[in-house]
Amino acid sequence: MNKPSFEEVADGVYCIETGLYRHGLAACYLVRSDDRLAFVETGTSNSVPRLLEVISTLGLTPEHVDYVIPTHVHLDHAGGAGNLIASCPNARLVIHPKGAGHMMDPSKLAAGATAVYGEEEFARHFGSLVPIPEERIIIADDGMVIDLNGRSLTFIDTPGHANHHGCIYDERTGGFFTGDTFGISYRELDTPNGPLLFAPTTPVAFDPDAWQESLDKILSFNPKTIYLTHYGRVDQPQTLGQDLRRSIRDLAELALAEEGTNAEGRGERLKRGVADHLIKRALSHGCTLSEAQIREVLGVDIDLNAQGLEVWLVRRAKIRTANAAAPE
Ligand SMILES: [Zn+2]
Repeated sequence: MNKPSFEEVADGVYCIETGLYRHGLAACYLVRSDDRLAFVETGTSNSVPRLLEVISTLGLTPEHVDYVIPTHVHLDHAGGAGNLIASCPNARLVIHPKGAGHMMDPSKLAAGATAVYGEEEFARHFGSLVPIPEERIIIADDGMVIDLNGRSLTFIDTPGHANHHGCIYDERTGGFFTGDTFGISYRELDTPNGPLLFAPTTPVAFDPDAWQESLDKILSFNPKTIYLTHYGRVDQPQTLGQDLRRSIRDLAELALAEEGTNAEGRGERLKRGVADHLIKRALSHGCTLSEAQIREVLGVDIDLNAQGLEVWLVRRAKIRTANAAAPE
């Protein structure tokens, strides 16, 4: 295997390339406090050998890992958790209460991901999911402080992208590990105007109102920096937070324009709508890539965002029907 690709992006915070799809798409982080370690995110099962390689490059061993903390149980964040816990004998998994069951029994996650990505893609990119024994799981409630050898990591409940999503505040660097809650921003789309940030409205629990409240919570910490899973460290959280708030509203509005329309072909219309919207944003942000190149960078996200918005519309329709049927 090639040398692992990683860099220290802040004091004792290493950003590691997980190798999903292409370089620069999905990161995970290793946090260090002297010789004790915590992973935030795991990448997929296929990423785990790279993560172990990073530990040995730092002159440490898997025995030095105390915690594995996926922000949520989507597989680009937690798919490798079982494998990683099995490889690190002293590590415990720290996970949102709504994600814990899926980590003990990942069969539903595998079925859900197969539905989203297709069987072949799932097997190729995500590998196999290893169940985690209950006694190695710590359930993280909102506000729980994880003590990594004197370094405080605070777990905050942040629904909106997923209802099993938490973010982790690192007191030492004033930085937040935000998973998908603080949006996606690829370095390929950086311009002199800064990073381009957008909301991943992935299936199945997009909730724009809850998301805005989660952003209030994150920004109330007045963080100095954000460690994005997709991708890397970005600064000026308050400015980027405004961009993300707008992106959540724009994508929700784009979906609501399809509310009540013929379900046939709606998926395709949403996909075109999301693609046009994101490409237009990239171009007006000053991005000099061609439309085709932008489309390539955003390919996976355009698909997932469109699927997630459609699932959201279906959920809204169900709620309306249930409300209409309810007695006064
Ligand atoms: Zn996610």
